[in-house]
Amino acid sequence: MKFYNLKHPEQEVSFSQAVRQGLGKNQGLFFPKELPNFADDIESLLSMPLVERSTKILYPFVKDDLSEDEFAQIVTNAFNFPALIQAVDEKNSILELFHGPTLAFKDFGARFMAQCLQKFTEDNNEKITILTATSGDTGAAVAHAFYGLDNIKVVIMFPKGKISLLQEKMFTTLGDNISTLSVNGSFDDCQSLVKQSFDDLELADAIGLNSANSINISRLLAQISYYFEAAAQLYRQRGNIDELVFAIPSGNFGNLTAGLLAKAMGLPIKRFIAATNLNDTVPRYLETGEWEPTETVATMSNAMDVSKPNNWPRVEHMLKSGIVAEDCLSSIAIDEEQTQMGMHKLNAKGYICEPHASVAYKALQYGITDSEYGVFLGTAHPAKFKETVESILGRPLGLPKELADCAGEMSLSEDLDFDFSALRSYLLERCKK
Ligand SMILES: *Cc1c(COP(=O)(O)O)cnc(C)c1O
Repeated sequence: MKFYNLKHPEQEVSFSQAVRQGLGKNQGLFFPKELPNFADDIESLLSMPLVERSTKILYPFVKDDLSEDEFAQIVTNAFNFPALIQAVDEKNSILELFHGPTLAFKDFGARFMAQCLQKFTEDNNEKITILTATSGDTGAAVAHAFYGLDNIKVVIMFPKGKISLLQEKMFTTLGDNISTLSVNGSFDDCQSLVKQSFDDLELADAIGLNSANSINISRLLAQISYYFEAAAQLYRQRGNIDELVFAIPSGNFGNLTAGLLAKAMGLPIKRFIAATNLNDTVPRYLETGEWEPTETVATMSNAMDVSKPNNWPRVEHMLKSGIVAEDCLSSIAIDEEQTQMGMHKLNAKGYICEPHASVAYKALQYGITDSEYGVFLGTAHPAKFKETVESILGRPLGLPKELADCAGEMSLSEDLDFDFSALRSYLLERCKK
């Protein structure tokens, strides 16, 4: 199957090119030229285990580049942890996506992308460098996903002292092919260093520069899998999957894009509610038709502090071209007080959740009818937001093994000034092909 550039439809690339390039001409996003439809096979698909089902539904996207056996191996390696549906009451379940190595849903996409890239670089005997800036979650997911893979070096930059120590330890203690740089500057400074590196074509060529950010189509394809998995578990638990409404805690809208793709591929989801925090560009846009991003504001659900969501062109395309009906999407902004109330309400039902999932839970409270069944995505383990959760709920939280293990290890990160020439020398020395 080919993927085309939403800004320049004449640009068509294979899956392997789309994965390696990330973005098309003029920063255009890649989108599949056709979507497989499984509406007639849903019952048999839902009876399969996660890896087997995911291989089957995603293979049409990659079949020009990989054999079915090669692809099955990629999916097996990537999805080596579960997604779990947990009922919180008789009308709502959470889809827990945080049982991977870094305790956030980003493990699904990052691991799948890493396995694909590993296969493509191996086939071409190519060496590449992944350079990325992080303010937390992404760095950890990327570091763990690529750790120990041949032919791929990873360099992760983060703003010194601006992320929690525990978060930092989740990606700076690995070593091997993962290098981490603690930059004397802000997250934006880190991002500008990444951008300057990509603009430096000589450098980019010398180190085989690649990015691993959330607009990569491979990450979205991976995420389609867990909507099917949610339906499979609900079908087993409840005997039906009627009137399903998914509430998605949204930042860059990758999760929503994957959900809409799942629906377009025949999974019977009734509708979606995109829940944002105070960074409410999308709910305002759906209400007024005006795209007016404002200054980004800091909230408790900080992975969603995004005012220019970079996957929105894909969502817009699906709605406008009729791939999914426009009325299957609504959006609502949840403020900080409502987020806390959601956490308290769930706590009273015996369920501890962190702020991102709570934003989605609150959206369901406002938006669901009697005949509907609500599912909200649990995008991070509560322990990743330990201090916030403890202070809101007034109860101590244990550390899961993944966090406890790395908390005691030494950070291997090196300091870097906010200075492109220093980064350039570092990369040429460490990452030359
Ligand atoms: C990245 C992230 C989100 C936002 O997901 P998008 O796909 O960018 O909308 C939500 N919650 C958590 C915990 C995240 O890390």
